[in-house]
Amino acid sequence: CKVVLLAGGVGGAKMAEGLDGLDDIDLAIIGNVADDAEFHGLWVSPDIDTVTYTLAERIDRKQGWGVADESHRALSVLAELGKDAWMSLGDRDFGLHIYRTERIRNGDRRSEIAADVAKAFGVKSRILLPTDDILQTQIKTDPGWMSFQEYFVREACRPDVQDIRFEGAEKAQATPEALAAIAEADLIVIAPSNPLVSIAPILSVIGMKQALQAAAAPKIAVSPIIAGKVVKGPADRMMASLGLEATALGVARHYADLADAIVIDRQDAALEASVEALGLRCIVDDILMKNREDKLRLARFVVDCAALPA
Ligand code: GDP
Ligand code: CA
Repeated sequence: CKVVLLAGGVGGAKMAEGLDGLDDIDLAIIGNVADDAEFHGLWVSPDIDTVTYTLAERIDRKQGWGVADESHRALSVLAELGKDAWMSLGDRDFGLHIYRTERIRNGDRRSEIAADVAKAFGVKSRILLPTDDILQTQIKTDPGWMSFQEYFVREACRPDVQDIRFEGAEKAQATPEALAAIAEADLIVIAPSNPLVSIAPILSVIGMKQALQAAAAPKIAVSPIIAGKVVKGPADRMMASLGLEATALGVARHYADLADAIVIDRQDAALEASVEALGLRCIVDDILMKNREDKLRLARFVVDCAALPA
C-alpha cells in the first residue's frame, strides 16, 4: 500500500513516524520547505530536518526538534562575534546545513540533497520536497511583514498574525517526484500539522492542488486541533486571528474541498454532525500522540479507515 503524507515539522513528524513504522506501507512524505531560511550563510530547512531526524532516530525527543545529544559551541562563537543567535542551531545540526549549502552551491536540486541525506541517515521512507524552488512563508504582524522564523523563533509567536503569504509561490514548480508519488498513491494523509503555515505552503506550489484533486487515492486529514487547542504552536491563535474557527470543525472546513475524510479527537465527538454536513466523512478517534505506541496505533487506524468503504 503506497501512502503519501503531507507534513510540516513536529506534528508532521509524529504522523510520519507512525506510518514509517508500519511494515506493509510504502511511505513518501512531502514536507514543508517554506520555513527554510539562510542563517550565517547556510541554508536551513527546519521542517524537512525535523522529519529526517525523527525517522533517523536522531531527534531530540524532549523538544521534538533538533538533534539529540547536541551542543551549541559554534553558535556561541557566532554570538561572541556579534551575530544574532536567536535561531538555535546545534553543532551536529550545523554539519547538515554545511553539507546542504555546499551542494546547493554546486547546483544540485534541493530534493535530491534531502533524499541523499535521508538515505545516508538510514531513513526507510522517502522524503520528498514539494518544490526545488525557493518558497518562503512571510507573516504580517503589527510592525509589518517578517520571515516565518523571525515570527516563530525570534518573536516566539507573540505578535498577532494579520496575514500570511508564500513568497515565490507564483513561480514554484512542483517536483516530478512529488507529483508522481501523489498520482501513484493508494492513500493520501494530511498530517496534524499547522494548516496555515505547514500544509498551505505545500498546496501553494504550482500544480500541487490539481495533482491532489486528480489523485484517485482517498485523502484523509488528521486534525491538529483537539478540544479547541493546539498540542503545541500557534495554529489556533493564527486561525482565530485570520477569521477561521480554531476547532476541529474549522480545520475540517479549511480542508473541505481537498480531503475526503478527517479524523478528529474523541473530545470533539460532538462536532461529528457539523463536520459531515460539510460533505466530509468524520472519523472519531484518539489523536493525541504522546509516545511511539500512540503514533503506530493512529497510523494503523488511519490506513485501515481508508480501506473501508465510505
Ligand atoms: P511545526 O512545523 O514544527 O510547527 O509542526 P507542524 O506544523 O507539523 O505541527 C504543528 C501542529 O501539530 C500543531 O498545530 C499541533 O497542535 C499539532 N500536533 C502536535 N502533536 C500532535 C498530536 O500528538 N496530535 C495531534 N492531533 N496534533 C498534534
Ligand atoms: Ca514548521
